[in-house]
Amino acid sequence: MPRRLRNHRVYWTVGLLCLLTAREPARGQAENRAFDVLGYVATIRPDIETRRVSGEVTISLRFSSNDVKTIEFDRGELAIEEVRHEGKRLGFALPPRRVRVQLPKPAARGTSADFVISYHGEPKTGLQFVPERQQVYTIFSTSQWLVCVDAPGDKATLDLQVVLPAGLRAIGSGALVSERPGPDGTIVHRWRQTQPVSTYLFGFAAGRFTEVEAMHGKTTLRYLGDGFSRDDLSRIFADTPDILEFFAGRAGVAYRDATYTQVLVANTAGQEASGFSLLSDAYGRAVREEPTAISLIAHELAHQWWGNLVTCRDWTHFWLNEGFATFMAAAYDEHRFGPEAYRRDIERARVRYEEVRQNGDDRSLVFTDWNRPTPSDRTLVYQKGAYVLHLLRQEIGDERFWAGIRRYTATHAGGSVTTDDFRRSMEEGSGANLQSFFDRQIYLRP
Ligand SMILES: [Zn+2]
Repeated sequence: MPRRLRNHRVYWTVGLLCLLTAREPARGQAENRAFDVLGYVATIRPDIETRRVSGEVTISLRFSSNDVKTIEFDRGELAIEEVRHEGKRLGFALPPRRVRVQLPKPAARGTSADFVISYHGEPKTGLQFVPERQQVYTIFSTSQWLVCVDAPGDKATLDLQVVLPAGLRAIGSGALVSERPGPDGTIVHRWRQTQPVSTYLFGFAAGRFTEVEAMHGKTTLRYLGDGFSRDDLSRIFADTPDILEFFAGRAGVAYRDATYTQVLVANTAGQEASGFSLLSDAYGRAVREEPTAISLIAHELAHQWWGNLVTCRDWTHFWLNEGFATFMAAAYDEHRFGPEAYRRDIERARVRYEEVRQNGDDRSLVFTDWNRPTPSDRTLVYQKGAYVLHLLRQEIGDERFWAGIRRYTATHAGGSVTTDDFRRSMEEGSGANLQSFFDRQIYLRP
């Protein structure tokens, strides 16, 4: 029916475009680092009324080079107050969006060290304050609220404490450890993410949320929103257990966390985080009215495997996150609504890609530079990425295609990947030689 289709389309395309825009400021990461971050232990104090944040983070790392004299972290627009190491203050410089720390003596490869950094700021991105709704939530650009290494390939654990006013419900990355009284009537919420994940997936959200909890197998499903009844939330997220089941089957890897939480917040285009996703109130209302408009719910949930568990090693291979999530949402539509829904989704992706191609802006899906993506570049990563996966499925057939996907996901679960890793897994899983397909469709080699 026309209205159905219209709603479906609007939330499928507009949502994803905005999502990328929101994530862009994260790209300023230090390349060729001389160290690997093992974990972050942080306490964050967001002030919803004044839109400010202060925090302290202990970064534990291991040096991967010899004779390291300085190290750099991403800090967005945050002001750095102090850097300490073994109880002593260290000197630091502040190049744009970075903090460069002077080590007391050159570090040797294989040794470990902790650095404690205090900071504050008024983030314009990365942390969304909505005082009129008593909401605060993170938006991808983690270095705007947590000094860190903002590169997807450096996965690390997180022990996060967020100090919030009493009376708010909060969710964060990892398992809830405690909620205890803090200073001045606040509540200190603490979560621990014990499996290393990329820092862009670190996050939290707080507000006056109503909550519905459901069990699916061993997974606890939580649905939260403000201005929605429990019945609304149950209806909006009614397909979540089936989506989770579907992707676990396609991935051949079970959902990893104990909990998957979906939160409707004041304004977001939709974003995945470790163990949870944020969607907007407007999208929630659209799904309440039109239960078939669930592509974005599926897209974000697909990221729990393709993006979160198997992550592009750097942004040059970003299509492995977004082309996958976009394609997987179409595959779910096929499972849920039939082949015609899948064909529609893929055709929509093809048409968007074709516009870019007609304009002469087609290029390799592996970007040499993703620092300033154009709208066409985004279309390539999302829509062409999804379309190429569809072509690959056509090329080798369903059985071999999904065998390859299972091989790829299981082989690289918890790791970081390049497009070549994907090709090799698909070849191993399917038994097909795919070099010429990849040359043609992905790299645009003659
Ligand atoms: Zn996405």
